[in-house]
Amino acid sequence: MAPFLVLGATAVSLDPEDWTAWRAQGHRMLDDMFDHLQNLRSGPVWQPIPDAVRAEFQQDLPLGAGDLTAAHERFMSAVRPYSVGNTHPGFMGWVHGGGTVVGMLAEMLAAGLNANLGGRNHMPIEVERQMVRWLAQIVGFPETSSGLFVTGSSMANFLAVLVARTAKLGTVVRQTGLAGQGRLRAYVGKSAHGCIPQALEMAGLGTDCIHWIALDEQQRMDVSAVRVALDQDLAQGYIPFFLCATAGTVDVGAVDPLSELADLAHAHGLWFHVDGAYGALGMMSPVIAPLLRGIEQADSLACDFHKWGQVPYDAGFLLVRDSDAHQRTFASPAAYLRREERGLAAGSPWPCDFGPDLSRGFRALKAWFTLQVYGTDRLGQVMAETCALAQSLKARIQAEKALELMAPVTLNIVCFRYRAGQDSNQVNREIVIRLHESGLVAPSSTVLAGHVVIRAAVVNHRTEQQDMDTLVDAVLRIGAALTEKGQ
Ligand SMILES: *Cc1c(COP(=O)(O)O)cnc(C)c1O
Repeated sequence: MAPFLVLGATAVSLDPEDWTAWRAQGHRMLDDMFDHLQNLRSGPVWQPIPDAVRAEFQQDLPLGAGDLTAAHERFMSAVRPYSVGNTHPGFMGWVHGGGTVVGMLAEMLAAGLNANLGGRNHMPIEVERQMVRWLAQIVGFPETSSGLFVTGSSMANFLAVLVARTAKLGTVVRQTGLAGQGRLRAYVGKSAHGCIPQALEMAGLGTDCIHWIALDEQQRMDVSAVRVALDQDLAQGYIPFFLCATAGTVDVGAVDPLSELADLAHAHGLWFHVDGAYGALGMMSPVIAPLLRGIEQADSLACDFHKWGQVPYDAGFLLVRDSDAHQRTFASPAAYLRREERGLAAGSPWPCDFGPDLSRGFRALKAWFTLQVYGTDRLGQVMAETCALAQSLKARIQAEKALELMAPVTLNIVCFRYRAGQDSNQVNREIVIRLHESGLVAPSSTVLAGHVVIRAAVVNHRTEQQDMDTLVDAVLRIGAALTEKGQ
């Protein structure tokens, strides 16, 4: 007998047999996550994973059926307690958003619908289209802009490079590739995120196409240095095509002079891209928006709803002013993706015409819920509050003789160190590790002009003044212990 001809032997559907029991179990799972979010402060930010727990995840591939309740128990005992900790108010490492109850619930609804947002004619696509229009309004782009959710700004920046490349060279580049295309040149600030050179690399342009731009004393791209670079490159026969500025640099939170850079880029026929991964949504705050002036002049913008926007991971976004240029970069006809005037295959263009993903999840829903429930005023207030906390941290650091502020504080990132003379790098790196192990607060570290510094990025809406105090008190305590022992 052919192996697939076992008809009617058993129920093959994966739906529950006992819906009532599974519903009750589902409610328990939801309650557990409510408890988790309600009681964050009573637990550690982070804790090391015991070997025994790690080892539990070496078990064999499950061939037979298991039990939902047991899987949930393992999640609660082995996964949840050893997570990153970015939901915790004491988390201030890297640039991580805190997430919200609203975002969690929306994720559940999206998973329940299980919509595929590659395309076709259904309402979830309209939710994403509304998010495109809302983001355009937030950052001052025209209503005709196009955009889509992607994993994060690393991906959004990469797609922006592809759009800029096609805009400069024409759609023929999709056929011929870059061979024989002359030497394209990109202008990137030295403070750009590492994903920018990586984007140029992945686009086939190679990092050698980058003309790195020096920073001024405020850690912002030096506009006159861009001018000099352009003149030099044009004289040498390069083809300048891409100028990338950052709104909220990853190291120190600086904002490049966007308006001046936009004017310069457009005067030279360059694509002006803004990496606004974490900073762009600051446009929701009337206090922060003036610092981002010029963002509305960008040709494309990368931004992350999962950072300052507090939407759960992942929710990156690419917004493009010229939707035709955007579509020309990615749209690819295929018989099995034929568009119709009516029916489920209507509604062209589809999101798959604006990026490389065909199957796509419903990321838009959690961002849509977040805006619906909180509104941009409240979210903007949260962002402004993180900046105020950063200023208070700065003031405290300047008041403590043992501490040294290491970069200007523009937005919500504060870089500082414990003064430890020659051992400074080693001591400050060790302080950050011990802070993590303490479970009290979790900043990260970075290197500025050769100095290891403690970097506190206040992103989480749950972070309060007491967390700033805990951070400084703990740094002073650990720093003193390390230097007294002469380690
Ligand atoms: C976080 C960040 C990125 C990378 O974004 P992901 O969402 O992590 O991919 C790029 N640029 C800046 C300025 C960032 O802060």
